[in-house]
Amino acid sequence: NRQILLASRPFGAPTHDNFTLAKTAKPIPQQGEVLLRTVYLSLDPYMRGRMNDAKSYADPVALNEVMVGGTVCRVEESKHADYQQGDWVVSFGGWQDYSISNGVDLLKLGNNISNPSYALGVLGMPGLTAYMGLLDIGQPKAGETVVVAAATGAVGSLVGQIAKIQGCKVIGIAGGTEKCQYAVDTLGFDACLDHHSDELAALLAKTCTDGIDVYFENVGGKVFDAVLPLLNPKSRIPVCGLISQYNATELPDGPDRLSLLMGTLLVKRAKMQGFIVFDDYGHRYGEFNKAMMTWLSEGKIKYKEHRVEGLENSISSFIGLLEGKNFGKLVVRVGPD
Ligand code: NDP
Repeated sequence: NRQILLASRPFGAPTHDNFTLAKTAKPIPQQGEVLLRTVYLSLDPYMRGRMNDAKSYADPVALNEVMVGGTVCRVEESKHADYQQGDWVVSFGGWQDYSISNGVDLLKLGNNISNPSYALGVLGMPGLTAYMGLLDIGQPKAGETVVVAAATGAVGSLVGQIAKIQGCKVIGIAGGTEKCQYAVDTLGFDACLDHHSDELAALLAKTCTDGIDVYFENVGGKVFDAVLPLLNPKSRIPVCGLISQYNATELPDGPDRLSLLMGTLLVKRAKMQGFIVFDDYGHRYGEFNKAMMTWLSEGKIKYKEHRVEGLENSISSFIGLLEGKNFGKLVVRVGPD
């Protein structure tokens, strides 16, 4: 059983030295438990937060413990009445080949599914995040302008497409020409701007001719600076993530801009609201799943996975996720079906 452990806590961007690959015996399930074999491992930005020894909405990973992560697994051996050998399940097995579960954290996928890994993306945590963050907090209305960054990623690509389904004008922000082209040509966004451009703020102002009604915040930093002056009265800002800051070791240099932010929220009567997907919306998974299954089957939602082969490549892929190297939902194939 190969396991990737947190060896030390990163200062700034994580490096290979922060992880170790360990080998242990295959675990043995007790009565009431199942042995799970990992087929797919999801790599997600929140994992960077779990590497810090800081108080947050979830406990940090302890040193020399297995890195946490959502997984799609096959039941290899069952001593649990509700599961049989061969069942596909979604679990929270972490960065390892095998894990044990008592069933409470498992979701059965059924045994005739065509894309099991979708349960880690478009039909799973990132999908629910996009759906609830946009529709419940963002409250987009037809004709409004919605802006989303990390626009071709797991969450952003779905936010933009759901906003199009609602009849909105959608402006994406992404890293590089290829991603921007994909957002327009394949995802159907009205425009997409490269955040590496020095002209981002001016380009965004030129593109958002009617201002911004909903800004779905995934990245923070310079992108938010460009968005702030364009917010319309009564605009809504679901605060989903701040990935541009996850490797920061201190607050950025420069003048204190808090009063600019507060003043804008006041004058524009704008609403900013953070959320943690499963804590706030886990109970609405069924509603989301039904809507997303319909949109997928109607071809209204396109979904791209960035697939990596082999557990051993998880470390470099995760480091790359924080640098924009993934193109689509990052999923590692750990073992065969
Ligand atoms: P993505 O698949 O979008 O991958 C991360 C992307 O972030 C990269 O590909 C890159 O895209 C972009 N990025 C990385 N560094 C920077 C930077 N310095 N500046 C600007 N963009 C950067 O990840 P997810 O869709 O899984 O997650 C998107 C956001 O949603 C994250 O902030 C995440 O933490 C958050 N999230 C929050 C949840 C919640 O419950 N609140 C639940 C799930 C996700 P590009 O090359 O286009 O810049």
